[in-house]
Amino acid sequence: MSYQHLLAELDLGFTRLRNRVVMGSMHTGMEDRFWNYPKLAAYFRERAKGGVGLIVTGGISPNRQGWLLPFGGTLNSVFDLRNHRLLTDAVHAEGGKIALQILHAGRYGYQPFVVSASAIRSPISKFKPRALSIAGIAKTVRDYARCARLAQRAGYDGVEIMGSEGYLLNQFLCPRTNRRTDRYGGSIENRMRLAREIVERVRAVCGERFIVVYRLSLIDLVEGGNTWDETVQVAQALEAAGVTMFNTGIGWHEARVPTIVTSVPRAAFAELSGRLKRAVNVPVIVSNRINTPEVAEALLAEGAGDLVSMARPLLADPEFVLKTAEGRAHEINTCIACNQACLDHTFRNQRASCLVNPRAGRETELVYRPVTDARAARSIAVVGAGPAGLSAATVAAARGHRVTLFDASATIGGQFNLAMRVPGKEEFSETIRYFQSQLQRHQVDVRLGTRVDPALLAAAAYDDVIVATGIVPRKPSIAGIDGPNVLSYVDVLRGAPVGRRVAVIGAGGIGFDVSEFLLHRAGDPLPMPRDAWLDEWGVDLAVRERGGLKAPATPQPARQIWLLQRKAGKLGMGLGKTSGWVHRATLARNDVTMLGGVSYREIGERGLKIEREGVEEWLDVETIVVCAGQESLRDLLPQTDAAATASGEGQRGGPRYHVIGGARVASELDAKRAIREGAEVAAAL
Ligand code: FAD
Ligand code: NAP
Ligand code: SF4
Repeated sequence: MSYQHLLAELDLGFTRLRNRVVMGSMHTGMEDRFWNYPKLAAYFRERAKGGVGLIVTGGISPNRQGWLLPFGGTLNSVFDLRNHRLLTDAVHAEGGKIALQILHAGRYGYQPFVVSASAIRSPISKFKPRALSIAGIAKTVRDYARCARLAQRAGYDGVEIMGSEGYLLNQFLCPRTNRRTDRYGGSIENRMRLAREIVERVRAVCGERFIVVYRLSLIDLVEGGNTWDETVQVAQALEAAGVTMFNTGIGWHEARVPTIVTSVPRAAFAELSGRLKRAVNVPVIVSNRINTPEVAEALLAEGAGDLVSMARPLLADPEFVLKTAEGRAHEINTCIACNQACLDHTFRNQRASCLVNPRAGRETELVYRPVTDARAARSIAVVGAGPAGLSAATVAAARGHRVTLFDASATIGGQFNLAMRVPGKEEFSETIRYFQSQLQRHQVDVRLGTRVDPALLAAAAYDDVIVATGIVPRKPSIAGIDGPNVLSYVDVLRGAPVGRRVAVIGAGGIGFDVSEFLLHRAGDPLPMPRDAWLDEWGVDLAVRERGGLKAPATPQPARQIWLLQRKAGKLGMGLGKTSGWVHRATLARNDVTMLGGVSYREIGERGLKIEREGVEEWLDVETIVVCAGQESLRDLLPQTDAAATASGEGQRGGPRYHVIGGARVASELDAKRAIREGAEVAAAL
């Protein structure tokens, strides 16, 4: 593929972007603390070096009321300029362009100074906002303009005014949150007045030779959002006010429709950007669930936008553009839209990183130094080609070590081969494809179908042995557990026949995934086609009703399912903040019975006998599927080393042993930890 649209320059008249790839705004947590700006600069520098056309920073508030969190990042005085110049200099040194995102959180702020159009609390913050007075609105406009002007002085090529996802300007735009009766409320002309005044003022203070992106909500996905006609009216007014280009926003944060998790079909909302492009005369940036150059190129070719915004895909692979341009697209480390190390971190107030790229956000800390002296290259055996072993093998080999990678099975990927069979998680296969490309590129000696034993290791005199043998599924001791009606999640995901009425023991990530798998029929088209997905979630891309919502389609689950756990309380509380609710909503809509506080008494021909709140009952099910967690598999490790595995590393006479991933600790294991541990151990060799 030539990627001629994606790699084409964009001439904005006063400046040029080297290609059509925009790195969308992503809050990393580093922008909130001045001492992290050198790290943030290194993070942006890598992405600019990787060829991104325009980088948009994480949101920076124009004033204190606009903070998302207490003491969030601001750019409201000349004293902030030094920090921001670190970022702009780093990006410009690599030939890139960078815009500052100005984000006023409005009622989404999690702090006591919050303001909004009207005093209506949001469902996702406990702080009730104060309605901005007319004087307060005028000051807000001035604060935006001051922030933009300071951004210009700090060397930014432009600003992005955040007007979507339910933040302040979106709150003014929509009747859901704007009940004002003055000139900023009522008609759409009034509701858009604040946005228009801000764009006009920013343009006035920054002049014509400055990029002003406006991120406009194209579908609010909440009741009381705007209609498509209103959105077009807003866009045309903002274009007249001086916007250089529009970025696409999809859905408010409080919307109950997923917009970016992995089960959202790729480019599901791109049709809206195409429609906006036909209604305005400035470039439009298409976004949301675009994570490969093929999809990006196809969207531009079919007129869905003039540029493509990708945020998480550039966390996952800073060289996304470079690899695309060099004909190495198959080597891109694709974002699998899991949110586990990026958005879930942000919501926990941790620094954002990436599950598939643990260096993201830690560019100055996790450094893969090349082994320049051939005598320092070590001979390394990596046992287990799951995420942990793959990460260790590829990083060690990329640094210059001699690596042999073993796996007992016929394919690489470990448990990711099961994960990718879960409907909505098909993209996990991309990670296996990426690692496959790296094994080849760095000439790892891969030996599949080889179960390693101590004798095999002893015969080869390795300097280091990295034990990444993963886990074995836990088999709980319940009477009847060996019966013919009991299956493990491994059997089920590999295609074993399952009855129509099913009890799932264990409601961790895998219990939820297996339940979703069982709701589908063999032969259902997967990944789910876009239109079926839109119907399932009740989304009308024509945005006829306010917010673009319609009645969801009635689900037709393939099975009746009981999902069970011993802990009392709501199920799925250990799932990710930004994805767990999607899984819970899917199961609830499909009438899955979710029970906590369960004791398992017995399995028999009648099904599963449980006790709950002192009452025993038989669940009349044909199949019981066990998803009760896992235990480490590290029988390979010499006994003397097994005791020393708390640090993940053992030492004895022969090779040095290192234990990573599930083999090290099975509980709380996920691929984020597995891949990170693999990279860290390999970086230190
Ligand atoms: P494994 O993936 O278990 O790999 C171990 C490998 O070692 C295997 O390939 C095995 O064949 C090999 N091996 C074992 N013994 C030997 C030996 N003696 N010789 C040679 N080879 C050997 N995690 C997430 O973070 N997010 C998710 O959304 C997610 N979804 C999941 C969904 C499902 C259905 C499943 C099953 C798992 C999911 N996980 C998810 C968990 C994730 O896959 C694991 O945390 C991860 O695979 C652990 O990596 P690992 O390399 O430690 O072990
Ligand atoms: P898990 O999250 O640890 O869940 C195990 C479940 O089994 C829990 O519900 C636990 O709850 C139950 N259990 C534990 N011991 C039991 C026993 N002896 N008898 C009966 N029930 C028992 O593990 P998992 O679901 O196997 O997932 C493995 C890892 O993969 C997880 O850590 C997760 O991070 C990762 N993963 C993540 C996702 C995701 O979407 N992010 C998806 C899949 C997997 P009770 O003890 O209360 O019964
Ligand atoms: Fe993508 Fe997951 Fe990485 Fe976030 S953590 S950038 S969603 S792969």
